[in-house]
Amino acid sequence: MSRKSVAQEAEEILLASDMIRLGARLQVLQTETSLSYDRLARLYREIRKASPPKGMLPYSVDWFMTWLPNIHATMFYSHFQFLNTHTPSTGTRALIDGYRLYLEQANAGRPESTDSEPVLSFTRAWMLLRFFDSNMLQLSDCTRCGGGFVAHAYEPKADFICAICQPPPRAGKTRARAAKKTRRVANTV
Ligand SMILES: [Zn+2]
Repeated sequence: MSRKSVAQEAEEILLASDMIRLGARLQVLQTETSLSYDRLARLYREIRKASPPKGMLPYSVDWFMTWLPNIHATMFYSHFQFLNTHTPSTGTRALIDGYRLYLEQANAGRPESTDSEPVLSFTRAWMLLRFFDSNMLQLSDCTRCGGGFVAHAYEPKADFICAICQPPPRAGKTRARAAKKTRRVANTV
């Protein structure tokens, strides 16, 4: 068995710390680093001042297809994909940096005091990438606005219309604001 170098271990602790601050569950940390369960649990308690939550991870592809989650997932994925493809920030680092950009964007224009949970949690963002890796999700180009949106894999792309161009009637007031934001990302990234 090859021993990890100190530098490599330090890098993994740094990644794990960043992920814990962003709200990652322990299962995510175990997958993304080679640190032991005990060390990760200790790190978690040091940073969050609480024990890591137990229980299953949210495992649902369909969640990403509902209206608001789909728009948020698309915002995050656009950032991740750009970083992972065009910058030195790749893999787990691109997940962290992409999620930070998503948070900045999702919180833009909201009052400073708003500390409500983001629509897309860090663990969900991580799940999203797993679903892409296992070919359960893909980006489909909307035939109306041209933006790339998170969609079920193997869905016919020819007549795809995105959640912004065809929102459900209940989408209501948040619609215009979310549309403006996502279109900006979809077009620039
Ligand atoms: Zn569209």
